[in-house]
Amino acid sequence: MIIAIDGPSGAGKSTLGKMLAKQLDLLYLDTGAMYRAVAVAAMRAGAAWEDTAKIAGIAAAAKIELRGKPDDLKIFLDGDDVSSEIRTLDVAQAASIVSTISEVRRIMVEHQREIGESAPNGCVLEGRDIGSVVFPNADIKFFLTAKPEARARRRFEEDMAKGRDSTYEQTFSEINQRDERDVSREDSPLTISEDAVVIDTSDLDLSEVFDQMIAKISETKRAAATTD
Ligand code: C5P
Repeated sequence: MIIAIDGPSGAGKSTLGKMLAKQLDLLYLDTGAMYRAVAVAAMRAGAAWEDTAKIAGIAAAAKIELRGKPDDLKIFLDGDDVSSEIRTLDVAQAASIVSTISEVRRIMVEHQREIGESAPNGCVLEGRDIGSVVFPNADIKFFLTAKPEARARRRFEEDMAKGRDSTYEQTFSEINQRDERDVSREDSPLTISEDAVVIDTSDLDLSEVFDQMIAKISETKRAAATTD
């Protein structure tokens, strides 16, 4: 089973994706972490953001691996654990820039399909283009969204809990800038697939969203079983 979860930053995709993967015993693939790892590789190589050919070469050569269970997922770049480094604000902005490069996307999408297809029980993938590009035939597609203020508030609270030094205003402007880049890029912009189940998480708590998603997945499984 392939479950696609798309949506803007701070809508709850990672938390819910991990919860679903655990509950359903599926592999969890955080595709944003892969773009973040490419950004780290480009930064380490000192590549200029305009040098798209160089960054594409870096993406092609980079060995990006996701290891471990959803709750303790580690991201490795060329054998080096970059799990903490990829979560900095600089890397978030850099990932948003490198993800506009078509060749980088092509390489990541290929890698994501391989990982998803080879997962024995199936995979939960979360990102921006999963239902539209990576797995357009996913068994079920979710689009999680929330009001910009709610998303910024959540991200800000997460950052505070991690001891990060920022303000709500900074977080708000940072995620809006990234979202704007995601919806306006030419290649694979963030869109809502026609067949996606859209959930606005602004006024719902996690367990309510989780229950809605599980109910939808059960319904889809039942429908598939009756048509088999
Ligand atoms: O989801 P996360 O914030 O970790 O992703 C980092 C950046 O990678 C996003 O801001 C987005 O620009 C990009 N991304 C993407 N396509 C995906 C996943 C992430 O363009 N499937």
